[in-house]
Amino acid sequence: MANAGADEATLVLIKPDAIQRRQVGLVLERLERLGLELVGAKAMPVSRRLAEEHYNHLRDKPFFEELLKLLCGELHGVPHVLAFVYAGPDAVARVRQLAGATNPDRAEPSSIRGSLGRNMPGGVMENVIHASSDPQEAEREIMLWFRPEELLRPLPWWTKKTASRTTRARRGGL
Ligand code: UDP
Ligand code: MG
Repeated sequence: MANAGADEATLVLIKPDAIQRRQVGLVLERLERLGLELVGAKAMPVSRRLAEEHYNHLRDKPFFEELLKLLCGELHGVPHVLAFVYAGPDAVARVRQLAGATNPDRAEPSSIRGSLGRNMPGGVMENVIHASSDPQEAEREIMLWFRPEELLRPLPWWTKKTASRTTRARRGGL
């Protein structure tokens, strides 16, 4: 697997519910304590298209529409998310464990979602952050949310992919 091992990278989004509830500092402090390397950070608006692509695997779920509205900030009147890439050994699993289970009521009380998240009446989950669930998902998500030049350093697996695409394109052009 390309993005696994010593230089594993993962995507974190601080979702609009956490921004509205002024939990950003709390979340970042918890993430910072993991001691991972910060490779990317930005605030950005989320288009419906980006939200659909990000949550593509949940297209058939009854909560999909509501989830898009949540990520786009429509439910909380917040027009952006905060996006981060963290790297280091076991980055994906470590951030995921810190995030806690999807449902805040079932998440470990010490986790981010268990301590800061909540379920709203009507079924909307305010679960504070998104964290990639495995290294492959992380690759897909990092490429979806960031351009290579926005990162503070190249990620080896991404550079390799880009290089092989360029080589293929050149070969195709010969
Ligand atoms: N979600 C929801 N209801 C559900 C399951 C998921 O509202 O029953 C939302 C929740 O915001 C979650 C997101 O959909 O974070 C993505 O779901 P996934 O199963 O990928 O959970 P995650 O990876 O975020 O823990
Ligand atoms: Mg997920």
